[in-house]
Amino acid sequence: MSLWWSLTDHPKFEGASLDQQWDVVIVGGGFSGLWTAHHLLSHDSHLKIAVIEQSTVGSGASGRNGGWASALYPIDDAKMLKHFSQEIIDSLHHQLRSSIDEIGAFASKEKIDCDFHKGGSLVVARNGGQLERLKNSLEEGSTFLDAQETQSRIRMNGALGSSFTPDCAAINPATLIVGLAMSLERRGVSIVENTRAEFSKDGKVYVGDKRIKAKAVVRAIEAYHANSREQLPIYSLMVATEPLPDHIFEEIGIHNRETFAEGAHLVTYAQRTAENRLAIGGRGAPYIWGSRRRDSNELVKDIHEQLRIMSRTWFPALREFEFTHAWGGAVAVTRDWAAYVRFDGSYGELGGYAGDGVTLSYLAAAAMADLVTQKETIRTALPFAQWRSPLWEREPLRWLGVNAAIKLSGASDVEERITQRPSVLMKLLAPITGQ
Ligand SMILES: Cc1cc2nc3c(=O)[nH]c(=O)nc-3n(C[C@H](O)[C@H](O)[C@H](O)COP(=O)(O)OP(=O)(O)OC[C@H]3O[C@@H](n4cnc5c(N)ncnc54)[C@H](O)[C@@H]3O)c2cc1C
Repeated sequence: MSLWWSLTDHPKFEGASLDQQWDVVIVGGGFSGLWTAHHLLSHDSHLKIAVIEQSTVGSGASGRNGGWASALYPIDDAKMLKHFSQEIIDSLHHQLRSSIDEIGAFASKEKIDCDFHKGGSLVVARNGGQLERLKNSLEEGSTFLDAQETQSRIRMNGALGSSFTPDCAAINPATLIVGLAMSLERRGVSIVENTRAEFSKDGKVYVGDKRIKAKAVVRAIEAYHANSREQLPIYSLMVATEPLPDHIFEEIGIHNRETFAEGAHLVTYAQRTAENRLAIGGRGAPYIWGSRRRDSNELVKDIHEQLRIMSRTWFPALREFEFTHAWGGAVAVTRDWAAYVRFDGSYGELGGYAGDGVTLSYLAAAAMADLVTQKETIRTALPFAQWRSPLWEREPLRWLGVNAAIKLSGASDVEERITQRPSVLMKLLAPITGQ
């Protein structure tokens, strides 16, 4: 169980009988599905909306993530510029930034105690290679902090510098999603848990052999859309410490609950929780042949152990403390790392957030609601709107390429530690990873 669920009560959502005519049926009770319902209601509060969830609300990535409500977008601007104007790209970044504040305002208005705190985010360089890459890839709104300035925010072992952006909030995602679901239920949305839906080829929704009647249906199942060349489920794993005493934070900093990561190639991310634990995550679990999902991949012992070792390397003081939680989940990665929000007049789908979905799902869902209600807005012109990525390679190429990329990302980090220069290996890997 994720740390977040151990701290959050989960009320039952039983919903109404699905055997009636709906305006919109949404499959998937994660952030994408629930925010879609939320934004649809802000267009028309009388819409009859059902959300069908195969397990419980937030049981997917939405209730298990690192709790970074960031303004990150998985592809860099240079790649987007091949297809979109600078104005559209700027608008995407602007809207991601304001979405963080909108999520915070929603939580505050609905009195959802999800520990939302916008303390910004740090990426720390611990060797010369990371430092050079960090300086060369500073995004608008981010500031470079030298070693001394970094120390005033975080005292990570071996830190040479960092980048800081104010645009990130730390949250408990499980509490936010339960609060969102309760708010939707109060506003008349029917949330039906423990019910698996299937899609026919022409985009109709079935539960068992019964077709659910709806004017529009939305597939909001993100990394659960597996066994396909459209996207890969890539596993991200997390560990969390017991609550740490105040003197530890006097030693390691993070006084403003900044989220933080090491600027390594193999993704890492962490937050200081409201109850003074550290929750730390990273990638590295293997990709499964055929883009399959497998629950055992959420609990790869070696990766969890590597995360604990990494945490203690960052902060040697953690050696005295226990790690009480270990969990994981899948993120969906398309071939070009682009997110998508598509709607054809009766069937829609959204996802492909590549591990940046907490804020992005809010904005993507707003675009989906615009498309469903046939509103042309600034959001329906954003890069993810009606975007279709190329397909991933067929097997065995996909298995070989993705697993090699995962392994070689780790090797590139070792290369940078040894050479103190940006990895050459990683440059060679770019065509395989698509990044
Ligand atoms: C360990 C981890 C850490 C992460 N950290 C961060 C982070 O710090 N910041 C960030 O921005 N992003 C992070 N992410 C990514 C982020 O959590 C996701 O992008 C986001 O939650 C996706 O939301 P979603 O609603 O699209 O998908 P999900 O939350 O996965 O929801 C999909 C839902 O669909 C349901 N479903 C699937 N198939 C069916 C079916 N046939 N019928 C009915 N229901 C179905 C599932 O049960 C699930 O509840 C992380 C992800 C993981 C796994």
